[in-house]
Amino acid sequence: MSEQPPTDLVTMDKIVSLCRRRGFVFPSSEIYGGLGSTFDYGHYGVLAKNNIRERWLRAMVQERDDIVALDSAIILHPRVWEASGHVEGFTDPLVDCRTCKLRFRADKLDDAQCGRKPSKRPGETPDCDLTEARQFNLMFETTVGAVQEAGSRAFLRPETAQGIFVNFKNVLQLARRKPPFGIAQTGKSFRNEITPGNFLFRVREFEQMEMEFFVPPAEAEEWYRYWVDERLGWYLAHGLRRSRLRIREHDAEERSHYSQGTSDIEYLYPIGWSELEGVANRGDYDLNRHTEFSTTKLEFVGQDGERYTPFVIEPAVSIERILVAMLVDAYDEEVVAERERTVLRLHPQIAPIKAAILPLIGKSEDMVAKARALYEELRQRHFVEYDDGGAIGRRYRRQDEIGTPFAFTIDDQTLEDDTITIRERDSLAQERLPIGEASAYLDDALARPWATPKGD
Ligand code: ATP
Repeated sequence: MSEQPPTDLVTMDKIVSLCRRRGFVFPSSEIYGGLGSTFDYGHYGVLAKNNIRERWLRAMVQERDDIVALDSAIILHPRVWEASGHVEGFTDPLVDCRTCKLRFRADKLDDAQCGRKPSKRPGETPDCDLTEARQFNLMFETTVGAVQEAGSRAFLRPETAQGIFVNFKNVLQLARRKPPFGIAQTGKSFRNEITPGNFLFRVREFEQMEMEFFVPPAEAEEWYRYWVDERLGWYLAHGLRRSRLRIREHDAEERSHYSQGTSDIEYLYPIGWSELEGVANRGDYDLNRHTEFSTTKLEFVGQDGERYTPFVIEPAVSIERILVAMLVDAYDEEVVAERERTVLRLHPQIAPIKAAILPLIGKSEDMVAKARALYEELRQRHFVEYDDGGAIGRRYRRQDEIGTPFAFTIDDQTLEDDTITIRERDSLAQERLPIGEASAYLDDALARPWATPKGD
Protein backbone atom coordinates (compact mmCIF):
# COMPACT_ATOMS: atom_id res chain seq x y z
CA MET A 1 0.00 0.00 0.00
CA SER A 2 1.40 3.35 -0.97
CA GLU A 3 0.51 6.77 -2.37
CA GLN A 4 -2.53 8.68 -1.28
CA PRO A 5 -5.67 7.86 -3.23
CA PRO A 6 -7.03 10.75 -5.31
CA THR A 7 -9.78 12.71 -3.64
CA ASP A 8 -12.55 11.47 -5.95
CA LEU A 9 -12.04 7.97 -4.63
CA VAL A 10 -15.11 6.54 -2.99
CA THR A 11 -14.74 5.44 0.63
CA MET A 12 -15.10 1.83 1.69
CA ASP A 13 -17.86 2.93 4.10
CA LYS A 14 -20.02 4.06 1.19
CA ILE A 15 -19.58 0.72 -0.53
CA VAL A 16 -20.36 -1.22 2.65
CA SER A 17 -23.43 0.89 3.25
CA LEU A 18 -24.77 0.49 -0.28
CA CYS A 19 -24.15 -3.26 -0.20
CA ARG A 20 -26.08 -3.47 3.04
CA ARG A 21 -28.89 -1.14 2.01
CA ARG A 22 -29.53 -2.93 -1.26
CA GLY A 23 -29.01 -6.47 -0.02
CA PHE A 24 -25.75 -7.36 -1.79
CA VAL A 25 -23.84 -8.36 1.34
CA PHE A 26 -24.82 -8.91 4.98
CA PRO A 27 -22.58 -9.36 8.02
CA SER A 28 -22.68 -13.10 8.70
CA SER A 29 -24.59 -14.58 11.67
CA GLU A 30 -25.86 -11.10 12.42
CA ILE A 31 -28.63 -12.16 14.81
CA TYR A 32 -25.92 -13.72 16.98
CA GLY A 33 -23.86 -10.56 16.97
CA GLY A 34 -21.92 -11.35 13.81
CA LEU A 35 -18.68 -13.22 13.26
CA GLY A 36 -15.92 -10.75 12.54
CA SER A 37 -14.98 -10.24 8.89
CA THR A 38 -17.35 -12.94 7.68
CA PHE A 39 -20.10 -12.07 5.22
CA ASP A 40 -23.19 -13.56 3.64
CA TYR A 41 -24.34 -12.62 0.16
CA GLY A 42 -27.89 -11.55 -0.58
CA HIS A 43 -29.69 -11.77 -3.92
CA TYR A 44 -27.78 -9.10 -5.86
CA GLY A 45 -24.47 -10.15 -4.34
CA VAL A 46 -25.03 -13.73 -5.48
CA LEU A 47 -25.94 -12.60 -9.00
CA ALA A 48 -22.92 -10.27 -9.27
CA LYS A 49 -20.57 -12.99 -8.01
CA ASN A 50 -22.06 -15.49 -10.46
CA ASN A 51 -21.48 -13.02 -13.28
CA ILE A 52 -17.84 -12.48 -12.31
CA ARG A 53 -17.27 -16.24 -12.15
CA GLU A 54 -19.08 -16.80 -15.44
CA ARG A 55 -17.04 -14.10 -17.21
CA TRP A 56 -13.80 -15.55 -15.83
CA LEU A 57 -14.72 -19.09 -16.94
CA ARG A 58 -15.76 -17.76 -20.31
CA ALA A 59 -12.38 -16.09 -20.87
CA MET A 60 -10.39 -18.97 -19.36
CA VAL A 61 -12.22 -22.03 -20.67
CA GLN A 62 -15.15 -21.40 -23.00
CA GLU A 63 -13.33 -19.17 -25.46
CA ARG A 64 -10.07 -21.14 -25.52
CA ASP A 65 -8.88 -24.51 -26.84
CA ASP A 66 -6.06 -24.97 -24.36
CA ILE A 67 -7.68 -24.84 -20.90
CA VAL A 68 -10.02 -27.32 -19.22
CA ALA A 69 -12.11 -27.02 -16.07
CA LEU A 70 -11.75 -28.88 -12.78
CA ASP A 71 -13.59 -28.95 -9.45
CA SER A 72 -11.47 -30.64 -6.80
CA ALA A 73 -12.39 -31.33 -3.19
CA ILE A 74 -11.95 -28.74 -0.45
CA ILE A 75 -10.53 -31.31 1.98
CA LEU A 76 -7.62 -33.08 0.32
CA HIS A 77 -5.25 -35.75 1.61
CA PRO A 78 -3.20 -34.11 4.40
CA ARG A 79 0.02 -35.07 2.65
CA VAL A 80 -0.89 -32.66 -0.15
CA TRP A 81 -0.23 -29.77 2.22
CA GLU A 82 3.05 -31.24 3.37
CA ALA A 83 4.19 -31.56 -0.22
CA SER A 84 3.02 -28.07 -1.12
CA GLY A 85 4.96 -26.57 1.79
CA HIS A 86 1.86 -25.18 3.50
CA VAL A 87 2.18 -27.23 6.72
CA GLU A 88 5.67 -25.91 7.25
CA GLY A 89 5.59 -22.54 5.64
CA PHE A 90 2.11 -21.07 5.15
CA THR A 91 2.54 -18.76 8.09
CA ASP A 92 2.39 -15.09 8.91
CA PRO A 93 4.43 -13.55 11.71
CA LEU A 94 2.11 -12.78 14.61
CA VAL A 95 2.61 -10.41 17.55
CA ASP A 96 0.29 -10.02 20.55
CA CYS A 97 -0.06 -6.85 22.56
CA ARG A 98 -0.15 -7.73 26.28
CA THR A 99 -1.83 -4.38 27.03
CA CYS A 100 -4.70 -4.13 24.52
CA LYS A 101 -4.87 -7.91 23.87
CA LEU A 102 -5.05 -7.43 20.11
CA ARG A 103 -3.08 -9.45 17.57
CA PHE A 104 -1.22 -8.00 14.63
CA ARG A 105 0.73 -9.18 11.64
CA ALA A 106 4.31 -8.25 12.43
CA ASP A 107 4.97 -7.42 8.78
CA LYS A 108 1.91 -5.14 8.53
CA LEU A 109 2.29 -3.06 11.71
CA ASP A 110 2.41 0.13 9.64
CA ASP A 111 -1.16 -0.47 8.44
CA ALA A 112 -2.51 -1.51 11.87
CA GLN A 113 -4.00 0.44 14.74
CA CYS A 114 -3.55 -0.44 18.38
CA GLY A 115 -6.57 -0.97 20.63
CA ARG A 116 -5.91 2.12 22.73
CA LYS A 117 -7.49 5.49 22.00
CA PRO A 118 -6.33 7.58 20.30
CA SER A 119 -5.39 4.68 18.07
CA LYS A 120 -1.77 4.60 17.09
CA ARG A 121 0.46 2.21 15.27
CA PRO A 122 1.08 -0.82 17.56
CA GLY A 123 4.29 -0.30 19.48
CA GLU A 124 4.12 3.47 19.22
CA THR A 125 2.65 4.38 22.63
CA PRO A 126 4.57 3.82 25.87
CA ASP A 127 1.78 1.45 27.02
CA CYS A 128 2.17 -0.91 24.06
CA ASP A 129 3.70 -4.19 25.14
CA LEU A 130 4.27 -6.36 22.09
CA THR A 131 5.45 -9.96 22.24
CA GLU A 132 8.18 -11.28 20.00
CA ALA A 133 6.89 -12.29 16.58
CA ARG A 134 6.03 -15.98 16.21
CA GLN A 135 4.92 -17.88 13.12
CA PHE A 136 1.20 -18.59 12.92
CA ASN A 137 -0.10 -21.13 10.38
CA LEU A 138 -3.04 -19.78 8.42
CA MET A 139 -4.61 -23.14 7.55
CA PHE A 140 -7.87 -24.12 9.27
CA GLU A 141 -7.61 -27.58 10.75
CA THR A 142 -10.40 -30.10 10.95
CA THR A 143 -10.79 -33.78 11.71
CA VAL A 144 -12.13 -36.31 9.26
CA GLY A 145 -14.27 -39.22 10.46
CA ALA A 146 -16.17 -39.92 13.66
CA VAL A 147 -13.21 -40.59 15.91
CA GLN A 148 -10.80 -37.84 16.75
CA GLU A 149 -7.55 -39.71 16.41
CA ALA A 150 -4.11 -39.25 15.01
CA GLY A 151 -4.15 -39.57 11.26
CA SER A 152 -7.57 -38.00 10.85
CA ARG A 153 -6.24 -34.44 11.01
CA ALA A 154 -7.00 -32.58 7.80
CA PHE A 155 -7.12 -29.02 6.49
CA LEU A 156 -9.56 -26.81 4.66
CA ARG A 157 -7.72 -25.82 1.50
CA PRO A 158 -6.05 -22.40 1.67
CA GLU A 159 -5.84 -22.26 -2.15
CA THR A 160 -7.41 -24.15 -5.01
CA ALA A 161 -4.13 -24.61 -6.89
CA GLN A 162 -3.00 -27.82 -5.13
CA GLY A 163 -6.20 -29.61 -6.17
CA ILE A 164 -5.13 -28.88 -9.72
CA PHE A 165 -1.56 -30.16 -9.34
CA VAL A 166 -2.69 -33.46 -7.83
CA ASN A 167 -4.98 -33.98 -10.84
CA PHE A 168 -2.29 -33.15 -13.39
CA LYS A 169 -1.85 -36.75 -14.49
CA ASN A 170 -5.60 -37.39 -14.83
CA VAL A 171 -6.07 -34.39 -17.06
CA LEU A 172 -2.94 -35.06 -19.09
CA GLN A 173 -4.15 -38.58 -19.86
CA LEU A 174 -7.89 -38.23 -20.06
CA ALA A 175 -8.21 -34.82 -21.64
CA ARG A 176 -5.34 -35.79 -23.95
CA ARG A 177 -3.51 -32.52 -23.41
CA LYS A 178 0.02 -31.53 -24.20
CA PRO A 179 1.83 -28.46 -22.84
CA PRO A 180 1.12 -25.63 -23.18
CA PHE A 181 -2.26 -26.31 -21.59
CA GLY A 182 -4.08 -25.15 -18.50
CA ILE A 183 -6.50 -26.31 -15.80
CA ALA A 184 -8.90 -23.79 -14.31
CA GLN A 185 -10.79 -24.04 -11.06
CA THR A 186 -13.05 -21.82 -8.97
CA GLY A 187 -14.12 -22.53 -5.41
CA LYS A 188 -13.92 -21.65 -1.74
CA SER A 189 -10.58 -21.29 -0.02
CA PHE A 190 -10.02 -20.72 3.69
CA ARG A 191 -7.31 -18.80 5.52
CA ASN A 192 -7.23 -18.01 9.20
CA GLU A 193 -6.03 -14.46 8.52
CA ILE A 194 -4.57 -12.72 11.57
CA THR A 195 -5.95 -9.36 10.60
CA PRO A 196 -8.87 -9.71 8.22
CA GLY A 197 -10.70 -6.53 7.27
CA ASN A 198 -11.45 -3.82 4.77
CA PHE A 199 -14.82 -5.37 4.03
CA LEU A 200 -14.43 -8.23 1.53
CA PHE A 201 -10.81 -7.41 0.69
CA ARG A 202 -9.35 -9.75 3.30
CA VAL A 203 -11.75 -12.39 4.64
CA ARG A 204 -11.26 -15.84 6.11
CA GLU A 205 -13.30 -17.68 3.52
CA PHE A 206 -13.33 -16.51 -0.06
CA GLU A 207 -13.90 -17.84 -3.53
CA GLN A 208 -10.73 -18.20 -5.52
CA MET A 209 -10.39 -18.44 -9.26
CA GLU A 210 -7.08 -19.98 -10.22
CA MET A 211 -5.66 -21.33 -13.43
CA GLU A 212 -2.48 -23.38 -13.66
CA PHE A 213 -0.91 -23.22 -17.11
CA PHE A 214 1.64 -25.97 -17.79
CA VAL A 215 4.35 -25.07 -20.30
CA PRO A 216 7.69 -26.32 -21.62
CA PRO A 217 10.33 -24.74 -19.33
CA ALA A 218 11.92 -22.78 -22.16
CA GLU A 219 8.60 -21.02 -22.84
CA ALA A 220 7.82 -20.14 -19.21
CA GLU A 221 8.99 -16.52 -19.24
CA GLU A 222 7.05 -15.77 -22.43
CA TRP A 223 3.84 -17.32 -21.07
CA TYR A 224 4.26 -15.52 -17.76
CA ARG A 225 4.31 -12.15 -19.61
CA TYR A 226 1.40 -13.30 -21.74
CA TRP A 227 -0.79 -14.05 -18.71
CA VAL A 228 0.01 -10.74 -17.01
CA ASP A 229 -1.16 -8.94 -20.18
CA GLU A 230 -4.14 -11.19 -20.67
CA ARG A 231 -5.45 -10.71 -17.14
CA LEU A 232 -4.93 -6.95 -17.22
CA GLY A 233 -6.90 -6.95 -20.49
CA TRP A 234 -9.73 -8.86 -18.81
CA TYR A 235 -10.13 -6.13 -16.18
CA LEU A 236 -10.12 -3.39 -18.80
CA ALA A 237 -12.70 -5.26 -20.88
CA HIS A 238 -14.89 -5.51 -17.80
CA GLY A 239 -14.91 -1.79 -17.23
CA LEU A 240 -12.20 -1.04 -14.67
CA ARG A 241 -10.41 2.22 -15.38
CA ARG A 242 -6.82 1.96 -16.63
CA SER A 243 -5.72 4.69 -14.23
CA ARG A 244 -6.85 2.54 -11.27
CA LEU A 245 -4.85 -0.52 -12.33
CA ARG A 246 -1.13 -1.11 -12.32
CA ILE A 247 1.30 -3.99 -12.55
CA ARG A 248 3.83 -4.34 -9.75
CA GLU A 249 6.56 -6.88 -10.25
CA HIS A 250 8.03 -8.44 -7.10
CA ASP A 251 11.77 -8.23 -6.61
CA ALA A 252 13.69 -11.39 -5.73
CA GLU A 253 13.39 -10.72 -2.00
CA GLU A 254 9.60 -10.48 -1.99
CA ARG A 255 9.00 -13.53 -4.18
CA SER A 256 7.98 -16.89 -2.71
CA HIS A 257 10.88 -19.35 -2.67
CA TYR A 258 9.42 -21.38 -5.55
CA SER A 259 8.62 -18.38 -7.73
CA GLN A 260 10.72 -17.47 -10.76
CA GLY A 261 8.72 -14.30 -11.28
CA THR A 262 5.61 -12.75 -9.72
CA SER A 263 3.57 -9.71 -10.71
CA ASP A 264 0.65 -8.29 -8.79
CA ILE A 265 -2.13 -6.65 -10.72
CA GLU A 266 -2.96 -3.91 -8.25
CA TYR A 267 -6.10 -1.84 -8.01
CA LEU A 268 -6.35 1.54 -6.34
CA TYR A 269 -8.74 0.51 -3.55
CA PRO A 270 -9.86 3.09 -0.97
CA ILE A 271 -7.08 1.64 1.24
CA GLY A 272 -4.48 2.46 -1.43
CA TRP A 273 -2.84 0.39 -4.17
CA SER A 274 -3.29 -3.26 -3.18
CA GLU A 275 -3.11 -6.70 -4.75
CA LEU A 276 -6.14 -7.58 -6.83
CA GLU A 277 -4.65 -10.58 -8.61
CA GLY A 278 -1.28 -12.32 -8.57
CA VAL A 279 0.39 -13.86 -11.61
CA ALA A 280 3.34 -16.15 -10.85
CA ASN A 281 5.81 -18.31 -12.68
CA ARG A 282 6.01 -21.19 -10.17
CA GLY A 283 8.61 -23.14 -12.11
CA ASP A 284 8.50 -26.92 -11.67
CA TYR A 285 8.32 -26.71 -7.87
CA ASP A 286 4.78 -28.03 -7.39
CA LEU A 287 4.92 -30.98 -9.77
CA ASN A 288 8.34 -32.00 -8.42
CA ARG A 289 7.19 -31.84 -4.82
CA HIS A 290 4.07 -33.92 -5.50
CA THR A 291 6.17 -36.40 -7.46
CA GLU A 292 8.49 -36.70 -4.47
CA PHE A 293 5.77 -37.02 -1.82
CA SER A 294 3.30 -39.21 -3.74
CA THR A 295 5.90 -41.21 -5.73
CA THR A 296 3.66 -40.72 -8.78
CA LYS A 297 5.70 -39.18 -11.56
CA LEU A 298 4.11 -35.95 -12.69
CA GLU A 299 5.77 -35.15 -15.98
CA PHE A 300 5.02 -34.87 -19.65
CA VAL A 301 6.14 -37.67 -21.94
CA GLY A 302 5.87 -36.99 -25.66
CA GLN A 303 5.27 -39.58 -28.37
CA ASP A 304 8.88 -39.27 -29.49
CA GLY A 305 10.08 -40.13 -25.96
CA GLU A 306 10.73 -36.52 -25.01
CA ARG A 307 10.08 -36.05 -21.27
CA TYR A 308 10.16 -33.09 -18.91
CA THR A 309 8.45 -31.57 -15.88
CA PRO A 310 6.44 -28.60 -17.13
CA PHE A 311 6.75 -25.16 -15.57
CA VAL A 312 3.57 -23.60 -14.24
CA ILE A 313 2.21 -20.10 -14.77
CA GLU A 314 -0.56 -19.19 -12.36
CA PRO A 315 -3.01 -16.28 -12.43
CA ALA A 316 -4.81 -16.33 -9.04
CA VAL A 317 -7.53 -14.05 -7.75
CA SER A 318 -10.62 -14.05 -5.55
CA ILE A 319 -14.13 -13.05 -6.58
CA GLU A 320 -14.25 -10.90 -3.45
CA ARG A 321 -11.33 -8.69 -4.49
CA ILE A 322 -12.78 -8.33 -7.98
CA LEU A 323 -16.21 -7.47 -6.61
CA VAL A 324 -14.84 -4.76 -4.32
CA ALA A 325 -12.76 -3.28 -7.15
CA MET A 326 -15.74 -3.27 -9.50
CA LEU A 327 -18.06 -1.70 -6.93
CA VAL A 328 -15.52 1.00 -6.07
CA ASP A 329 -14.86 1.74 -9.73
CA ALA A 330 -18.56 1.85 -10.60
CA TYR A 331 -19.81 3.94 -7.68
CA ASP A 332 -20.93 7.49 -8.49
CA GLU A 333 -23.02 10.14 -6.81
CA GLU A 334 -24.43 12.93 -8.93
CA VAL A 335 -27.16 15.53 -8.99
CA VAL A 336 -29.62 15.20 -11.86
CA ALA A 337 -32.47 17.68 -12.23
CA GLU A 338 -31.75 18.92 -8.72
CA ARG A 339 -32.04 15.44 -7.28
CA GLU A 340 -29.20 13.38 -5.99
CA ARG A 341 -28.71 9.91 -7.30
CA THR A 342 -26.29 7.15 -6.45
CA VAL A 343 -25.46 4.98 -9.40
CA LEU A 344 -23.36 1.88 -9.93
CA ARG A 345 -21.90 2.14 -13.42
CA LEU A 346 -21.18 -1.57 -13.57
CA HIS A 347 -20.30 -3.35 -16.79
CA PRO A 348 -23.66 -4.64 -18.07
CA GLN A 349 -22.37 -8.22 -18.00
CA ILE A 350 -21.47 -7.85 -14.33
CA ALA A 351 -24.60 -5.97 -13.26
CA PRO A 352 -26.85 -8.33 -11.25
CA ILE A 353 -30.03 -7.26 -13.05
CA LYS A 354 -29.89 -6.51 -16.76
CA ALA A 355 -33.16 -4.63 -17.15
CA ALA A 356 -36.07 -3.40 -15.07
CA ILE A 357 -39.59 -3.60 -16.48
CA LEU A 358 -41.74 -0.87 -15.04
CA PRO A 359 -45.40 -0.04 -15.68
CA LEU A 360 -45.59 3.75 -15.28
CA ILE A 361 -48.79 3.49 -13.28
CA GLY A 362 -48.80 0.43 -11.07
CA LYS A 363 -52.56 0.56 -10.67
CA SER A 364 -53.26 0.48 -14.40
CA GLU A 365 -54.32 -3.05 -15.22
CA ASP A 366 -53.53 -2.58 -18.91
CA MET A 367 -50.01 -1.32 -18.22
CA VAL A 368 -49.39 -4.06 -15.68
CA ALA A 369 -50.56 -6.74 -18.13
CA LYS A 370 -48.20 -5.49 -20.87
CA ALA A 371 -45.31 -5.08 -18.44
CA ARG A 372 -45.79 -8.56 -16.96
CA ALA A 373 -45.89 -10.09 -20.45
CA LEU A 374 -42.62 -8.36 -21.38
CA TYR A 375 -41.08 -9.45 -18.08
CA GLU A 376 -42.11 -13.08 -18.68
CA GLU A 377 -40.50 -12.91 -22.11
CA LEU A 378 -37.22 -11.31 -21.06
CA ARG A 379 -36.65 -13.45 -18.01
CA GLN A 380 -36.35 -16.54 -20.19
CA ARG A 381 -32.95 -15.20 -21.21
CA HIS A 382 -31.74 -12.78 -18.55
CA PHE A 383 -32.06 -11.77 -14.92
CA VAL A 384 -34.58 -8.94 -15.16
CA GLU A 385 -36.82 -7.40 -12.54
CA TYR A 386 -40.46 -6.31 -12.54
CA ASP A 387 -41.44 -3.47 -10.23
CA ASP A 388 -44.78 -1.67 -10.05
CA GLY A 389 -44.52 -0.21 -6.52
CA GLY A 390 -44.30 3.52 -5.85
CA ALA A 391 -43.33 6.60 -7.85
CA ILE A 392 -41.45 5.95 -11.07
CA GLY A 393 -38.55 8.23 -10.01
CA ARG A 394 -37.96 6.16 -6.91
CA ARG A 395 -38.09 2.95 -8.88
CA TYR A 396 -35.46 4.31 -11.32
CA ARG A 397 -33.21 5.34 -8.43
CA ARG A 398 -33.45 1.92 -6.87
CA GLN A 399 -32.35 0.34 -10.13
CA ASP A 400 -29.52 2.90 -10.49
CA GLU A 401 -28.21 1.89 -7.08
CA ILE A 402 -28.01 -1.77 -7.98
CA GLY A 403 -26.46 -0.95 -11.35
CA THR A 404 -29.27 -2.06 -13.70
CA PRO A 405 -28.15 -0.79 -17.12
CA PHE A 406 -31.61 -0.50 -18.74
CA ALA A 407 -35.18 0.26 -17.71
CA PHE A 408 -38.14 -0.50 -19.97
CA THR A 409 -41.16 1.60 -19.11
CA ILE A 410 -44.70 0.83 -20.17
CA ASP A 411 -46.80 4.01 -20.31
CA ASP A 412 -49.93 5.52 -21.89
CA GLN A 413 -48.38 5.54 -25.32
CA THR A 414 -47.64 1.82 -25.05
CA LEU A 415 -51.37 1.20 -24.82
CA GLU A 416 -51.86 3.10 -28.07
CA ASP A 417 -48.97 1.99 -30.26
CA ASP A 418 -47.11 -0.80 -28.44
CA THR A 419 -43.91 1.17 -28.02
CA ILE A 420 -42.01 1.42 -24.75
CA THR A 421 -39.43 3.82 -23.32
CA ILE A 422 -35.89 2.60 -22.81
CA ARG A 423 -33.95 4.52 -20.19
CA GLU A 424 -30.21 4.08 -20.14
CA ARG A 425 -28.58 4.09 -16.70
CA ASP A 426 -25.43 6.11 -17.40
CA SER A 427 -26.49 8.75 -19.91
CA LEU A 428 -30.13 8.82 -18.78
CA ALA A 429 -30.98 8.99 -22.49
CA GLN A 430 -34.49 7.81 -23.32
CA GLU A 431 -35.72 6.42 -26.60
CA ARG A 432 -38.83 4.63 -27.78
CA LEU A 433 -38.87 1.18 -29.27
CA PRO A 434 -41.58 -1.25 -30.37
CA ILE A 435 -42.23 -3.64 -27.47
CA GLY A 436 -41.56 -6.60 -29.76
CA GLU A 437 -37.97 -5.43 -30.26
CA ALA A 438 -37.09 -5.13 -26.56
CA SER A 439 -35.63 -8.61 -26.30
CA ALA A 440 -33.33 -8.22 -29.32
CA TYR A 441 -32.34 -4.75 -28.09
CA LEU A 442 -31.26 -6.17 -24.74
CA ASP A 443 -29.37 -9.08 -26.32
CA ASP A 444 -27.48 -6.67 -28.61
CA ALA A 445 -26.74 -4.19 -25.85
CA LEU A 446 -25.30 -6.92 -23.62
CA ALA A 447 -23.17 -8.40 -26.40
CA ARG A 448 -21.53 -5.07 -27.32
CA PRO A 449 -18.11 -4.10 -25.90
CA TRP A 450 -18.60 -1.62 -23.08
CA ALA A 451 -16.38 1.14 -21.70
CA THR A 452 -17.09 3.04 -18.54
CA PRO A 453 -18.37 6.60 -19.09
CA LYS A 454 -16.02 7.62 -16.25
CA GLY A 455 -13.11 7.71 -18.71
CA ASP A 456 -9.64 6.31 -18.18
P1 ATP B 1 -2.06 -10.99 0.45
O1 ATP B 1 -0.59 -10.64 0.30
O2 ATP B 1 -2.99 -9.85 0.17
O3 ATP B 1 -2.36 -11.76 1.71
P2 ATP B 1 -1.48 -13.29 -1.04
O4 ATP B 1 -0.31 -12.84 -1.85
O5 ATP B 1 -1.29 -14.15 0.14
O6 ATP B 1 -2.39 -12.03 -0.69
P3 ATP B 1 -2.24 -15.28 -2.85
O7 ATP B 1 -1.85 -16.38 -1.98
O8 ATP B 1 -1.38 -14.92 -4.02
O9 ATP B 1 -2.51 -13.97 -1.99
O10 ATP B 1 -3.75 -15.52 -3.31
C1 ATP B 1 -4.18 -15.28 -4.62
C2 ATP B 1 -5.34 -14.32 -4.65
O11 ATP B 1 -6.38 -14.75 -3.76
C3 ATP B 1 -5.01 -12.89 -4.21
O12 ATP B 1 -4.47 -12.15 -5.29
C4 ATP B 1 -6.39 -12.38 -3.83
O13 ATP B 1 -7.12 -11.98 -4.98
C5 ATP B 1 -7.04 -13.59 -3.23
N1 ATP B 1 -6.96 -13.62 -1.76
C6 ATP B 1 -5.96 -14.08 -1.00
N2 ATP B 1 -6.25 -13.98 0.30
C7 ATP B 1 -7.49 -13.45 0.38
C8 ATP B 1 -8.36 -13.10 1.45
N3 ATP B 1 -8.01 -13.32 2.71
N4 ATP B 1 -9.57 -12.56 1.16
C9 ATP B 1 -9.94 -12.36 -0.12
N5 ATP B 1 -9.17 -12.67 -1.16
C10 ATP B 1 -7.96 -13.21 -0.94
